[in-house]
Amino acid sequence: MRHENDIRPDAVTDRGSGDEKRTRAGTDRGLALQIMDALEQGVVIWSQDGICQMCNQRAVTLLEMRRSGLRTGTVLDVFLTQAQERGELSAAHLKESLELFSLGQPFQFEIKLASERVLSTNVRPVRGGGHIMAISDVTEERNALTALAVAEAEAEEAQRKATEVLEDERARQREVSLLSQMDEWLQSCKSLNELYEIVTVFMQKVLPGTRGQLFIYSNSRDVLDLACAWHFAEAPEHVTPDSCWALRRGRNYTFDPQGLSFVCDHVKESLGADEVPFTFTCLPIMAHGDTVGLIHIEFLEDGINPDVLDTKAFTKRCAEHISMAIANVKLRDELQDQSTRDPLTGLYNRRFFLNALRREMNQTASRQGNFALLSLDADRFKIFNDEHGHDAGDVVLEAIAQRMCEIDLDDAVACRIGGEEFSVILPNADRTRATAIAEELRRAVAETRIDYIGGGDLPAVTVSIGVAVYPTHGTEPKELIKQADVALYDAKKAGRDRWHLADGANLITFD
Ligand code: GH3
Ligand code: MG
Ligand code: MG
Repeated sequence: MRHENDIRPDAVTDRGSGDEKRTRAGTDRGLALQIMDALEQGVVIWSQDGICQMCNQRAVTLLEMRRSGLRTGTVLDVFLTQAQERGELSAAHLKESLELFSLGQPFQFEIKLASERVLSTNVRPVRGGGHIMAISDVTEERNALTALAVAEAEAEEAQRKATEVLEDERARQREVSLLSQMDEWLQSCKSLNELYEIVTVFMQKVLPGTRGQLFIYSNSRDVLDLACAWHFAEAPEHVTPDSCWALRRGRNYTFDPQGLSFVCDHVKESLGADEVPFTFTCLPIMAHGDTVGLIHIEFLEDGINPDVLDTKAFTKRCAEHISMAIANVKLRDELQDQSTRDPLTGLYNRRFFLNALRREMNQTASRQGNFALLSLDADRFKIFNDEHGHDAGDVVLEAIAQRMCEIDLDDAVACRIGGEEFSVILPNADRTRATAIAEELRRAVAETRIDYIGGGDLPAVTVSIGVAVYPTHGTEPKELIKQADVALYDAKKAGRDRWHLADGANLITFD
C-alpha cells in the first residue's frame, strides 16, 4: 500500500512490465509537474538522501535562481550551503535544517534574498522517506509586520517622551510654586534682617543638598559682612572683594572640581588641610547697577528635593530672586531714608521728628513715664556764615549733628528741624537726666574744633538749648515743642551757650 504523498520515483512502478512501468512513471511525473506548476507556491521534492527529485518553475523563480541552481539532481546540502554563503540563510539555520532533514523531521526557515524579498520555506517529511519543500513569498507580510513593529516602537517612544515632558512640566510648576512662595515672603519683609532670616529658613528646607552664605558690602565697601548662612557650621564673618572670582570678574562664577576652574580664596580659607572643595557658585548681588553683596552656594549632593528638577539651575534662580529682593529692600530703605533723613547731616528730618514725638508721647503716656525734648539753635550763626562762608557753616552744622549722635542714651532721636535748628527726643529721661544731657551736649559742641580745609581752626560755635519734660511741661506735641522753644528763647536772652529748663516761674538756668 502506498501513501498518497509517496514521492519515490518508482512510486507507480509496482505493477506491469518494465516498459509499461517506465511509461506510466513518465506520465505520472508529467502530471505531477503540471500540477506543481499550477501552484502559487514553489515546491521542491527531495529524496531521503537529499537529492532534488522534482521542482516547479515557481520555486526557481521565487528563489531568484537560474534553472541550473535548482533542478532534478540538485543536492540539498549544496543547495542550502550556497544559500548560506549568499547570506540568505544563517549558519545555525543551515546546520539545524540538515540535521532535521537527516532525522526525517519537519522544519522551517526563512530565506532573505539579496533583493530583500523574504521567502518562508516549509519542509515536511513524506511517508516512505524524503521531504516536500513548500516555498512562499512572505515579503509583504514581513514588511507589514516590520512596519507595524516600527510604528509600535515609535508610538511607545512618543508616549515615553510625552510622559517625560509632562513630568518635566509638573516639576517646573512645582519649582515655580516654590519660587513664588519664597517671593511672597521676601516681598513682605520689613527689613534686611527679616529677609536674611527668611532666606536661611527657605534655602535650608528647599535645597537640603546645598550650603550657602550671603554677604553684604559694609559701608566702608572694603569688606563684605556675613548676613546669613545655611548648613554651614562655621561661616567666615567677612570676605574681601578680591577673594572672590565672581566679585573680581563682575559676573556669576561656578567652580567645578572636574573642570578647568579655580577655587576662590574665601573658599580656600575655609577648607581643612586635606579637604577637597565641592562644586560651588558665587553670584554677585546687584542692586540698580551696583554690586551690593555676594551669594556663595556649595552643592553637596544632587537631587535631594524631589520637587526640584535640576538643583544647580534652581539654586541659581533662587539666588537671583534673593538678589532681587535684597535690591528692592535696599532701594526701599534708601527711599525711606531720603524721605526721613536730612541729607546734609544724616539726622532725621522735621517730618520724622513730629511722628517720632507723637509716638514717644503715646508710648510714655501708656506706661506713665517721662521723656524729654531738647530744642537746639546755633548761636549767632548768621554772623558765622557771613564771616567764614556758607560751606564752613555747613561743616559746623555737620559737627553739631555728630555731637548729637554721640549722646550717651539709647534710643535718643536726633533731628534737624531746619536751618541751624535741631531737636532731640530723650526717651525715659526725667528733668535731671535731660538737663545733664543738655549740659553735656552744650559743652561737647563748645569744645569742638574744626580745621576747615587746612586753613586752621574755625572759631568755636556754641548752641543754646531749651529743655522740656513730658508730662510736666506739656502733654501734647505742640505744647511740649512750644515749651522747649520758649526755654530756648530764654537761654538765648540770658546770653547763649547755655541750656534752659522750661517751667514758667521756676526756671533754673546754668551756663
Ligand atoms: P541766634 O543766636 O539768635 O540764633 O542768631 P543766628 O544768627 O543764629 O540766627 P538767625 O536766625 O538770624 O540766623 C540763622 C542763620 O543760619 C541764617 C542762615 O545763614 C544760617 N543757616 C540756616 N541754614 C543754614 C545751612 O543749611 N547752612 C549754613 N551754612 N547756614 C545756614
Ligand atoms: Mg535759628
Ligand atoms: Mg541761631
